[in-house]
Amino acid sequence: KWHNPETSALEGLFARGNRQLSRLLVSAHEKGCKFDSWSDKFDFKLWQDACEDTGVKIEYINKRKRKFDEPLPWDHIDTKVNKDFLKEERQRAENLESTGDCRSGDCKGCGVCDFKVIKPRTFKESPKEQPLKSENSKNISYRKLKVSFSKTGTAKYFGHLELVNILFRAIKRANIDIKYSQGFHPKPKISFEDPLAIGIESEIENMYIAVNHLIKHVEVVQRLNKQLPEGLEILECTDAPSKSEIKTIKGFAYRVRIKDFDFDESAIQEFKSQEVVVVERLNKKGKINKINLKNVVLNICLTSKEEIEFILKPDNGKTVRPYHVLKKIFNFTDKQNKEACVTKIGSGRIRLET
Ligand code: SF4
Repeated sequence: KWHNPETSALEGLFARGNRQLSRLLVSAHEKGCKFDSWSDKFDFKLWQDACEDTGVKIEYINKRKRKFDEPLPWDHIDTKVNKDFLKEERQRAENLESTGDCRSGDCKGCGVCDFKVIKPRTFKESPKEQPLKSENSKNISYRKLKVSFSKTGTAKYFGHLELVNILFRAIKRANIDIKYSQGFHPKPKISFEDPLAIGIESEIENMYIAVNHLIKHVEVVQRLNKQLPEGLEILECTDAPSKSEIKTIKGFAYRVRIKDFDFDESAIQEFKSQEVVVVERLNKKGKINKINLKNVVLNICLTSKEEIEFILKPDNGKTVRPYHVLKKIFNFTDKQNKEACVTKIGSGRIRLET
């Protein structure tokens, strides 16, 4: 697989460099280097400038030939693997010889194990679920299911991509025959109604999957629940509604509570009395989107002193997060936004208040 050579140069540098690199790190950060493993954020020129300022020579550090007995910058960290073993391994690699796996063969003497506390441990594979597949895999027909699940407790810290991976792996472990897209890079057919932001709990989330038509709804629920981590629970599985019905689902209800804070009814009344309340959001391309909260925040009300509920609906594809609402209407600080307990409590078609 292709790897950016400039990224490789930095990886080599940090694998071989010494304490001098701490100054380089600080300098690079001050110049704006952040999230460098994201190619859209990575700017090698900034690193080169930081190297020049701090006197770090990437080429020299990466390419200089080292003697076997030269102390290495990380020698004070005892990884337990002894250097003689590594030298022998290198020799074996140059001779195109392989080293067997010590979990299923003899100890190769790397030095890690004391064979009392530290020793190779292998675990028996857990019994696999019987595949939920039809006999003739060539003529499978698939149907689309709507799977509803909750995401609560510590599971609220799963980001959307992590959640997708968790659910996809659970589907695999549950041996549920799911439809894949066609083509060179097939992907499982899973879609989500409204990806949740990190830190928000949900009493009901919906995903749509295309599965073998022989699979019963109840089996999907039971099998997936056995495979999911704490905080994620499948609640229901039904046939998916039609595409047009899914598209009309355009509102998501939220409940917000925050410790030691009373919401101000007059802030809600003031919001309701205004014609336009604009918030600004940076989109993925770094451009500012202006969104009128009056078009996206509906039915906002106090349910008790410490709790509010409201519905968010997209406006021409533009959405806001609950945090924007709290900041704009109740002047929440960033700290309060982090402490607020936000829960999605439903989704569906919107019934406007009268
Ligand atoms: S058994 Fe332990 S000491 Fe021996 S090669 Fe394996 S990891 Fe190293």
